[in-house]
Amino acid sequence: MKDSTPAIIFEGIEKSFGSLKVLQGISGSINRGEVVAVIGSSGCGKSTLLRCFNRLETINGGRLVVNGIDLSNPNLSSKQLRRLRTQVGMVFQQFNLFPHLSVLENLMLAPRQVLGQSRSQSEERARFYLKKVGLPEKADNYPEQLSGGQKQRVAIARSLCMNPQVMLFDEPTSALDPELVGEVLLVMQQLAQEGMTMVVVTHEMQFAREVAHRVLFLNQGQVEESGRARDVLTHPKSDRLRTFLSRMSFVNAASSGEESS
Ligand code: ADP
Ligand code: MG
Repeated sequence: MKDSTPAIIFEGIEKSFGSLKVLQGISGSINRGEVVAVIGSSGCGKSTLLRCFNRLETINGGRLVVNGIDLSNPNLSSKQLRRLRTQVGMVFQQFNLFPHLSVLENLMLAPRQVLGQSRSQSEERARFYLKKVGLPEKADNYPEQLSGGQKQRVAIARSLCMNPQVMLFDEPTSALDPELVGEVLLVMQQLAQEGMTMVVVTHEMQFAREVAHRVLFLNQGQVEESGRARDVLTHPKSDRLRTFLSRMSFVNAASSGEESS
């Protein structure tokens, strides 16, 4: 049975840190199998929005339902919260791998501890996902022996080992040397093609245009413009988005050495 309710529903969500209002009534939804790129200037609230989706931050107002779990319910049980954490994977700019564990051990840890998988089952799945991100030969290496791009692919594989329903990416390529960005985006593109539900905070406008179905442009804690990725990114309506994109295309062209078409 295909579930047609959105994977994430957010209505008027608000989040403040002290007197700083970071999210000021953001509404929208993420459908199942949809890839949504979240873009906007530094400090506009992109990470905060993403962190609300897996409850690294709690919202102060509005309604937020993630994979059927109502995060705006003040009586959210710890059982529901655990369920949420297994269903929503997150990939960060800094890969957050355990340095003292091998790649394989990094991948097996949460499935064993949180999902209660056996050693052999978790190892089988870990090897499966390592292969998927193109790194089957790195199973016994330690994170410090990998390039940034390889570390990030391991971090993605680690998330996938939990069999998530939704994947959140917070600037997954921003800490990488430019020549390593492509290999990570390729893995993400493959995931998207397989139908994973993905919310991606990114400055990679070409990726947003070609892989994302929709784009949310945030400005000062609000959705300034949203719509189909190609429409929004090629024919922006708001002046703020136009200005943002003209700055980004300069940055992207400068760092990749090519002009976007
Ligand atoms: P973005 O990811 O778009 O750059 P963030 O969501 O990280 O923006 O941050 C939005 C605003 O919230 C910024 O002004 C930031 O300094 C502030 N902020 C984020 N997290 C915290 C926090 N834990 N405590 C206080 N202020 C925060
Ligand atoms: Mg951020």
